[in-house]
Amino acid sequence: MRSNNHYYCKKCSSCCVRNGKVKNKQRWKCKQCGTTQFRVYKPRTINADRKRIMKRLSCENVGIRGIARLLSISPTHVIRCLLQMASLVRRPDYYEYGQEYELDELWSYSECKKNQQWVVWAINRRTRVVIDFVIGRRTKATVNKLIEKLKKLHPKKIRTDKWQGYKTLFADIPKEIHKQGRRITNRIERQGATVRNSLKRLNRKTLSFSKSPKMLEATLLLYFDECNWRPYRSGFMLKEPIF
Ligand SMILES: [Zn+2]
Repeated sequence: MRSNNHYYCKKCSSCCVRNGKVKNKQRWKCKQCGTTQFRVYKPRTINADRKRIMKRLSCENVGIRGIARLLSISPTHVIRCLLQMASLVRRPDYYEYGQEYELDELWSYSECKKNQQWVVWAINRRTRVVIDFVIGRRTKATVNKLIEKLKKLHPKKIRTDKWQGYKTLFADIPKEIHKQGRRITNRIERQGATVRNSLKRLNRKTLSFSKSPKMLEATLLLYFDECNWRPYRSGFMLKEPIF
């Protein structure tokens, strides 16, 4: 079917015409469906070392385009790798009880500022380990997913800010367990600042932001996985350099 001068579309098998060259490789354009394609594609292989570097850079406040420039690969390739790595991250299971937790929300958005995406998360107040997080609008349904997980751990106390919704969400547990107020969630607020400082898309007043909630979740998963669900404190050094 194929000769050097003819090329037939991979999608609809109709005749294609030459459509310029990219890196000295002939590109073809289908007259019927309009798609452009190459005769042969090189299979994509992702070097494990590069993936590790990509993940580390993403956790050190480098944006997608920054990573792409540093490793001289395309931004779409970076996104694909990050999403693939994030899909392999397992959220932790904790077997503890009688602990004290802090619950907080981090404001963010995807695409435009109207499209709010809140990162609701909880930490153990003593060990500062991140229990879990959910992403969504600031509604009871979103927050409840995390609260259900916390309730299973039989907490001694849960500290939250003064958001109205918490009152009804915590209605079924004794009043002394849920504590609401200002300045009582100081640890998670501080941890939140570290997370914001580590992930480019959570920085405030920058041009970096998420185009999809999926990507926001992926970068957060990778970050927590990288730091073992405990945001790095200042002065923390890796045992081995990445470059
Ligand atoms: Zn076609």
